[in-house]
Parts: sequence; structure tokens; C-alpha cells
Amino acid sequence: MAQLKRRLQFEEGDGSFLKMTNHGEPTVSLAPQPTGYKHCFHAMVKPGGALCNLNCTYCYYLHKEGLLHQPHAPRMSAEMLERHIRQYIEAQTGDEVVFSWQGGEPTLLGLDFFRKAVELEARYKKPGQRIENDLQTNGALLDEQWAVFLKQHNFLVGLSCDGPARLHDQHRVTKGGQPTHDKVMAAAKLLRKHNVPFNALCVVNRENAKYPLDVYRFLTRELGVWRVQFISCVEPKVFHQVAPQRWDLENMPIIGSPLARPGFADSVVTDWSVDPEDWGRFLCKVWDDWYKRDYGKVHVDLFETAVAQSLGWPSQRCVTAEFCGKGMAIEHNGDVFTCDHYVYPEYKVGNIAETHWGAMAYSETQQRFGFSKSRTLAGYCRECTFLKLCWGECPKNRLVRAPNGEPGLNYLCPGMKHFYTHIQRDMPEILRRVKKDRARSFQANERREQ
Ligand code: SF4
Ligand code: SF4
Repeated sequence: MAQLKRRLQFEEGDGSFLKMTNHGEPTVSLAPQPTGYKHCFHAMVKPGGALCNLNCTYCYYLHKEGLLHQPHAPRMSAEMLERHIRQYIEAQTGDEVVFSWQGGEPTLLGLDFFRKAVELEARYKKPGQRIENDLQTNGALLDEQWAVFLKQHNFLVGLSCDGPARLHDQHRVTKGGQPTHDKVMAAAKLLRKHNVPFNALCVVNRENAKYPLDVYRFLTRELGVWRVQFISCVEPKVFHQVAPQRWDLENMPIIGSPLARPGFADSVVTDWSVDPEDWGRFLCKVWDDWYKRDYGKVHVDLFETAVAQSLGWPSQRCVTAEFCGKGMAIEHNGDVFTCDHYVYPEYKVGNIAETHWGAMAYSETQQRFGFSKSRTLAGYCRECTFLKLCWGECPKNRLVRAPNGEPGLNYLCPGMKHFYTHIQRDMPEILRRVKKDRARSFQANERREQ
């Protein structure tokens, strides 16, 4: 905790932290860090706001158009783009700065927007610093030109795919309600042809959660990816208007009751949210297949994090970390939010036209947000055998009551428990394999250095 606090450290005293140049642009002076600590954070960039060419049923972002009063076709201006890139790089002292372009659908901005972005990144890059880009896309607009550009600038692409067509097309449809699976397959073919690295982002919802092997085998065998990210689809019915953790505590249902599961008239979650029990079964089935056939070949971030945390290493995902707050979001107009899942007026931290990125990322507000993940952890979680693997999962999903009536338990809890219980069987063998692999690579390094 002390270490993390140091990493999140910000300079004391408001006057010395934030300065303005003669041109009215915010600047920042970063507090000195103890040896070994760097100023680092990450942000999802929404250069086109909530604008998208598709109309996926379960999208958690389309409604921001109304919630944030966005214009008809939001677009990050050239001035704002430059401000964002300059400040984002200035605010970080790590070896690597990662730009994550997302939306809505970022390819709607057009290639010239991204050509300008990489040009600005090169201009503001600090000596010795590596700049990386990733692009989260539905793939519909990718063409040869895009693929050439993505390869040339070493973008990592996250392609949204929910499994085979019959499952994918249940939710991922165009504005006219047409299926999109063919477009995803075409995009994957194009990316492969140009050797662009890409991974699959799979939203596990109420429907596809019932077919774990069909989904996993499709992604790894037919879509052909070796990096898979599973995202649980959990959305309270009030998500269009009510920000996470601003829910009505009085009416939180007890875990396991029909009100805490999808498909019931008075349930707190949308019909498309994954059932907590199905989430657990899905992860267990995929784990078994992955461990039997794909261990060491396919990277499933959720599994690798579970292994890493079992070894006592830090979580690679914010949702299973003890603290969060290092993954923020920026909208097309420069508004900054505490997290991509907290893009609600209540969680706006500021705007980069008025306050420097660094001043917001290391601010007391943001630190409070990051630490509140642990501070608001239910007592039920503190006593859980799997606390150090789960940490109560993401606070945006703490929608239900524990069996003892305590509010603020994670909606996915039964599924998480099922999964963590299930993988204990394989963990001793995996830990032995990991240690052996590490020893082997250590010896190889030593031989190289001799
Ligand atoms: S609120 Fe959830 S998604 Fe956001 S940073 Fe924290 S754990 Fe991650
Ligand atoms: S498995 Fe359930 S009780 Fe255990 S830490 Fe996670 S959410 Fe809390």
C-alpha cells in the first residue's frame, strides 16, 4: 500500500503544481519520485466521443451522446489532439507511453486523423521513450490503407468479436439491425494479410456465456487470435442515467436472488448482462480447454493474471487489483474522467484545456478514486479465501448485497468464486511450470552474457 501510494504521489501544494504558460496552456511540474518509481498512467481516448457506425445492444457508451450532451458528430479538434498528446507525454516519465484509441468507433475519424496523431507523438516523444498505440475497433471500416498504416506504425488492434456468427450477431448489429460478423471476419483476414498484430475482445453476455467452448474455439481457431480478452457484460438497468456507485443502497438485492440475475422483470441488471453463475461456468470451461490445449500458446489476460497473482505478483488488470485509478478516459472535447467505466458528469476530473493531464492523473481526486476500490470493499470480501485474487472485482459491478445484507458486493461474486475454486486444482502444476520456465530463461540469459 505504501509503495502504491508513493507511485501515485503528487506534488504537495496547489500553487506549485499547476502553472500556465504565457500562451494560456496548462503546464505541470512533476514531483520528484524515489529511485525506481516513475510517473505513469494510462487513458482511453475517445476522439469521436460516443459516435459509432454500429448499434450493439449492450454498448455501455452509445448513451453518452445524450448524457454528456455531445454534438451530432463529435470530433477531437486538431488543437485538442495536439494538447492531449503533448500533455500526456509530458506527464509521464516511464520508458513507455501507451495511446489507446477507442470510442465509439475511432476509425470513423479517418486515417488522416491518426496520421496526424503519430506525427505529433513523434514530435513530443522524450528521448529514450517508447510510444505505443493500440486501437479498439469493430473492424467494419478497415481496408487496405488502414492495414498498411496500422502495420507501419506498429499499432496493436483489439478486434471486437463475441464468437461464431449465431452468437456475435445477437447483439453486434448495424444501425439498421443487420449482422456484422462477416465484417469482423473480413477485418481479421486483412489484418493477417498485412501482419498487423491483433487480439480479440469478447464481451461475455447472457447468451454467449452459455457456449464457452464454441466461443473460445472460434476465437482461437477460426478468427485465429492468440490473445483473448474476455469482458463480462454487466450493466444495471439504470446505467443510462445513474453513475456507478450512486445507486439506491436501500433497494440493492441480495446476491443469488432473482433480482440479482438477468431476465427477471424487476432485476437490477439489463437482460443482456451475463448471469453470475454462467460467468463462472464460462471461465471454468474455457480454462480447462486452454490449460489442456493452449497453455503457453494462447494468452487469456484473465487467466494469466490469476496465475500471476497466485505467485504473489501484481495484477495485470485493474479489475483484480487492490487499487485502481491508473486507467482514465478522455473525451473528444478534452474532458477527463476517472475511468472509462465512470464517464459520467459526477466523475469528471477536469479538462486538459484548463488543467494539465499530469495535474489530474496524480491529483488527490484521482487518488481518492483509486483507493476507494479498497476502502469500499465489503466485509464479506475481506473474509473471502480468494481476496488476493479478486479484490472485490470492479467497483462498477458492486451492485448487490452480501448474504448478510451488507450492500456493495460484486454482482459477479458467485462466478468469481466458482472460477477461483476450480483453478486451484491446476495451480500447483502451473506454478511449478512457471518457476521452471523462469529458471530456464534465467540460465539462458546468463549464458548469453558470458
Ligand atoms: S473502476 Fe473498475 S474498470 Fe475502472 S479502473 Fe477501477 S477496477 Fe478498473
Ligand atoms: S470472490 Fe466474491 S467475496 Fe471473494 S473477493 Fe471476489 S467478490 Fe469478494
